[in-house]
Amino acid sequence: MQTAEQTDHTTTNPVFGFTILGSGSNGNATVIHGPEGNILLDAGFSRKELERRMRQRNIEPSGIKALLLTHEHTDHVQGCRVFADHYNCPVYLTAGTENKLPCKNCVPAQRILIESGAVFQLCGLRIEAFSIPHDVEEAVAYTFHCGNKKLGYATDLGMTGMMVLNRLQACNALVLESNYEPSLLQASGRPLPLKRRIMSRHGHLSNAAALEAAEQLLHDAMSHIVFAHLSTECNDENKVYDGLCHLLQNCQRHHHICPQVAKQHEPLDTVWL
Ligand SMILES: [Zn+2]
Ligand SMILES: [Zn+2]
Repeated sequence: MQTAEQTDHTTTNPVFGFTILGSGSNGNATVIHGPEGNILLDAGFSRKELERRMRQRNIEPSGIKALLLTHEHTDHVQGCRVFADHYNCPVYLTAGTENKLPCKNCVPAQRILIESGAVFQLCGLRIEAFSIPHDVEEAVAYTFHCGNKKLGYATDLGMTGMMVLNRLQACNALVLESNYEPSLLQASGRPLPLKRRIMSRHGHLSNAAALEAAEQLLHDAMSHIVFAHLSTECNDENKVYDGLCHLLQNCQRHHHICPQVAKQHEPLDTVWL
């Protein structure tokens, strides 16, 4: 089922966009809309919750053609097996992610292994997977390409080195992790080893690190930037949004780039590119 907005869009440009169903340390899932169907990127909510959030944004769950996973942490795979098997979808994932899925019950029936660096076509989109530094065996982030438009999606990374920044160059829309505020993380009741893990080069991106990376990635053809995967306990959504707006103003980009912060408990509106 296409929304009216989607139908209108096809008359001018190929359908290409994304709907963040929810993002944060308790669950992540995003629908990527391509000219030939929809893809679910990560499935960190139960099937029922994924369906509920999709319908909130006029996305028919049975229209999902495939799932893509970034890595095996529960906040990315919670509903993967149940959703994929129910809708008979293949799941694209790395061998490292497949090996480390939390339980046998989490392994979907149809799996297609990809390697970091893989380039493949799905739903009329060209998709590139690339490795990111995170505390798992083989985590990947993705870029999606349609015509001359590019979407970059990178969360769960301890740092943005040159390799990651190169992959995320020239995105028209960028979704980037902005996980924690160091002072809130330090003040939290989390055990010291966990704090160290989050702050390490294989943990998560701090707000300051996200802003620094974003500054390097802003360019004239970018229209949307979304900060995502905020920690529920150790971040402040308003502070993240203000920081992003401030960056865009400082860089004179506020007239043409729409800033947003992804939410844990509700989907954002669909962004069309
Ligand atoms: Zn995560
Ligand atoms: Zn993770």
